[in-house]
Amino acid sequence: MSSSSSSSSSSTGHCGASGPRGGAPRRLLVPVAELRRRVGNVDEVDAEVALAGAEVIGTRLVDGTEARVKLRLEALSDGVVIGGSAEAEWTGECRRCLEPVSGVTNGEIDEVARPYPLDGELGIGDDRIDVTEAVRAAVGIGLPLAPPCREDCAGPDPEGHPVTIADDADDGPAEAEERLPDPRWAALAEVHPDR
Ligand SMILES: [Zn+2]
Repeated sequence: MSSSSSSSSSSTGHCGASGPRGGAPRRLLVPVAELRRRVGNVDEVDAEVALAGAEVIGTRLVDGTEARVKLRLEALSDGVVIGGSAEAEWTGECRRCLEPVSGVTNGEIDEVARPYPLDGELGIGDDRIDVTEAVRAAVGIGLPLAPPCREDCAGPDPEGHPVTIADDADDGPAEAEERLPDPRWAALAEVHPDR
């Protein structure tokens, strides 16, 4: 056991928030005290953070997987704008042959943080921003749903059990769109000629 307790050894600039490889999920805390000294200050952060597992149909982030994060922070008068990207490896099973598949998911990060955050913003506490959930959301959105191992995967037994692939674009958004009121009709309703 180390005798050095978790003192505030945080230097400025690039954050040292990456956890031990393959370790337990951790928080990615970006120090912003230095950055916030002047409006317009910019800082760039490269970090790795071990994320808790996440799963969608047929695909998952392995628990403790290291997400690679690139962030650009810019100081506002009352907060910080955070842009960047995150990527992480995922694994799963091919939806046709059930063989293992894997890949890399990545997503954009676009956040605002303030000491008193509005709805949907990140907080700034202790001169640090916890971007863990933003990173999780970014890589989570990119997880493919039930991906095939390759586009022309024929399944485990193409002769005996030919695979049929359901049409992904069934009747979702198109139908919903039709139900929206047509703006041209709204205009007609306003004109509404009497008799
Ligand atoms: Zn397959």
